[in-house]
Amino acid sequence: MANKKSQIKNINLEPVAGTVAGTVAFKPGERNVFFHLLTGCNLSCKHCYINTDQHGTATLPLHTVLRWLKRFARPEQKSNLILLGGEPTMHPDLAKIIKAAKSMRYAVTVDSNGYLFHDFLDRVSPAELDFLSFSLDGPDPAVNDPIRGEGVYAVCTENLKKAVSMGFRTSLIYTVSALNIDHLHRMPALLTELGVERFFIQGIGLRGKSAACDPEKGDQWQVDPQQWLEVVPVVARESARAGIHVTFPKVFLDCKDRFECAGRVAENYFIFPNGRVYQCPLCEDYPIHSYEMLDDQLIHRDGLNEDRFFELDIPEGCVMNKLLQPDTIEYRADGTPVHRISCCLLKQEMVMKTSESGEVKPE
Ligand code: SF4
Ligand code: SF4
Repeated sequence: MANKKSQIKNINLEPVAGTVAGTVAFKPGERNVFFHLLTGCNLSCKHCYINTDQHGTATLPLHTVLRWLKRFARPEQKSNLILLGGEPTMHPDLAKIIKAAKSMRYAVTVDSNGYLFHDFLDRVSPAELDFLSFSLDGPDPAVNDPIRGEGVYAVCTENLKKAVSMGFRTSLIYTVSALNIDHLHRMPALLTELGVERFFIQGIGLRGKSAACDPEKGDQWQVDPQQWLEVVPVVARESARAGIHVTFPKVFLDCKDRFECAGRVAENYFIFPNGRVYQCPLCEDYPIHSYEMLDDQLIHRDGLNEDRFFELDIPEGCVMNKLLQPDTIEYRADGTPVHRISCCLLKQEMVMKTSESGEVKPE
């Protein structure tokens, strides 16, 4: 997470009364299909994770999208489909794709930057879309717009309000970086005002532009682990208290936690328009994808691919984290790591669940 090594304090992650916290273990049988329909986007965010050198510039035609969706569909099993870009609403056939996906029994989410092109809200109904997710990286234009672009805050929040007023279920993704972590605590109030149901807090990635950021040239976007632990769980609690369902990455495993690599125990597919299919998002900047789409078939690739790394058991936890940012791992004098880093796909959730009698009930 950060380039600076630091002593991490023992932070109490217990929920306050009335909230329920828990690690979302990899749920047996759950499948997540992250489908990048295109890599094009109208914005140019500072931390953009899209890498056109690796994933091309194509927009997948409708007939190909439908064939690939069919290939990944498993109607007898819950499958979440997350439609992504670039900016997915720039795809002219997004509404048709959503309708087809629903008929294949996917639970469908669209992750948008908020611009909602092609009159998106008028072309789908709230019943067809499980969640419409908006990305915002600050509680006001002064914080958000230097990261995501001039005028983006106004457009995104306007369209979010419109979606809520039309009955769409909405969520918001906040990418925490050194540029905006000090403003995260202002988000619960904003989310309440906007009527957002779910809040996804995520750490800045190691892909695309953020991987290229150079601290020696004054770019310091990564967050110090101690700051993360002091800020993120507290804001998550505040959001849960406000009645918002919050999800945030686990990052540091407690000694009682078991390390699990999603590549081994879960079913996640990250599909790109050039046909690459990864199982781990940390691998996306490299041509080590486990699968590829060839003639509309999902083909497993032989050779040194990401799935070889998933098999390695190391004391530091996630192998890809160790390979990509070894500087962030702190060791004791005996050479053992102070913390194990969890799989980036392992999340914690906090949610307020109170029954009519006032008793706290887990979901
Ligand atoms: S909205 Fe998403 S795809 Fe577009 S520039 Fe920002 S991070 Fe990249
Ligand atoms: S992030 Fe690490 S633990 Fe998770 S799938 Fe990738 S390699 Fe495995």
